[in-house]
Amino acid sequence: MDRQRTELEQEAAAPLLPADEVAARFTLVPNDAARTAAQYQEAMSNLRFGEVFTDYMAYARWDHGKGWHGQTITPYGPIAISPAAAVLHYGQEVFEGLKAYRHDDGSIWTFRPGYNAVRLNASARRMAIPELPVDDFLASIVGLVRADARWVPAEPGSSLYLRPFVVATEPFLGIRAARNYEYYVIASPSGPYFAKGFSPIAVWVDQEYHRAGPGGTGAAKTAGNYAASLLPKVRAAENGFDEVLFLDAANNETIDELGGMNVFVVMRDGSVRTPALSGNILPGGTRSAIMDYLADQGVTVTEMPIKLSDLVAGIESGEVAEMFACGTAAVITAIGRLAGAGFDVTVPVGEMTRRIYQGITDIQLGRTPDRFGWLYQIA
Ligand SMILES: *Cc1c(COP(=O)(O)O)cnc(C)c1O
Repeated sequence: MDRQRTELEQEAAAPLLPADEVAARFTLVPNDAARTAAQYQEAMSNLRFGEVFTDYMAYARWDHGKGWHGQTITPYGPIAISPAAAVLHYGQEVFEGLKAYRHDDGSIWTFRPGYNAVRLNASARRMAIPELPVDDFLASIVGLVRADARWVPAEPGSSLYLRPFVVATEPFLGIRAARNYEYYVIASPSGPYFAKGFSPIAVWVDQEYHRAGPGGTGAAKTAGNYAASLLPKVRAAENGFDEVLFLDAANNETIDELGGMNVFVVMRDGSVRTPALSGNILPGGTRSAIMDYLADQGVTVTEMPIKLSDLVAGIESGEVAEMFACGTAAVITAIGRLAGAGFDVTVPVGEMTRRIYQGITDIQLGRTPDRFGWLYQIA
């Protein structure tokens, strides 16, 4: 593993306190209206992605001059914020996404929470939001998942999806960084991200709209990037496409990423490429894990600008063997069709994509030894 590591990856490699040592940072407020056994059974009976929420959420707030305080694990439910809250008008927000997995022995684990903690803060800096101490991030995950332990599903391919986020709550319409923020973590038991299983997706390459541009917020996990990606996604869906691949806004030539997933290209000779972190691309934790996983197997992933014209020509000639997208929610999904103005090509679904998917998920589920130190035990 001698590839060049980003600052984020280096920071994320710092050792984390064990769950028992951080748990007490968030005080549990019991939920007297928690779902009954019957309601719980019903809710868990047909899990899709992001539709069912648990009994609890984590909470903390930040006030100017006071910092973070009020850390609690509290009953899940609607939140009250002022209609003038800055986030509702100017989108000052950052979020994260990670999962808790149940292993066969009943224990509960998560995957590289340090990476998410450090990335939340990297996103926060870009959005002029105060950083959250890594131990608070960790404690919120541990406290929430322990309170909601029954919601961590055991079925293969399912997990408890965790969504930490920070919103600017100051009631003020002037344009400046807000002086009050709230941090939440909500949790959603989720089945496999793609209901149809490991089937390849069709991707539309948008040459008209961009999700991010030079100097913009593309590298921050923030709501506005997603808002910008929705119209192109709606238009692509109308034409039968599952996802949109965005191009670099500066040149409209090289590929960036999907609206919420990073992209890899596998060449016929077994070498692997992914777009370099140009500043417009979100530095995915799955992207980072795949590069480590492949490096460990002797496959170097080359981070480089990838021209759309070269990619399409490579798919047509067979030089490009496979293409896949990756992110926490879906882990890995094969790209089976790539189309845009003037081209429409089919990409084979190959062994490398399946092998990486199997390798990463086996580690997440504790079915193979974690040689990378990625797993963190919650309970
Ligand atoms: C979250 C996200 C990803 C994937 O990141 P992971 O850490 O792998 O989940 C990729 N692109 C965008 C725009 C994202 O928001």
